[in-house]
Amino acid sequence: MRCDICGSDDISLLNTRFGYMYKCNGCGATVGCHSNSKAHKPLGKFADRETRELRIQCHNMFDVDRDGFPRWFGVADRNDLYEKLAREMGISRGACHFAKMDKPMLRKAIKVMEEWE
Ligand SMILES: [Zn+2]
Repeated sequence: MRCDICGSDDISLLNTRFGYMYKCNGCGATVGCHSNSKAHKPLGKFADRETRELRIQCHNMFDVDRDGFPRWFGVADRNDLYEKLAREMGISRGACHFAKMDKPMLRKAIKVMEEWE
């Protein structure tokens, strides 16, 4: 396999407390593995540090509003909120997973969610 960021094939499989993940020894990018896959199937593409940080920011914004409650609490369920996000981003519900988004998409998601404040 090759790193999606730098193209290196110098990849290590690590067993971390979050499960197995691949790490590129060229640039440090990582990708998690499906937890139920014995073959350690990668979960999407390699992501660099900035992408990983944007994903964490998106999850934080999506799951916790500024009062500390989940955004969907008392309003909608989580899936409804993903549908709202997909609609406002102009993408399909199936594509609306932070783990699948690249940097421009993650930035767009953050902009959309900022409007929800
Ligand atoms: Zn790399």
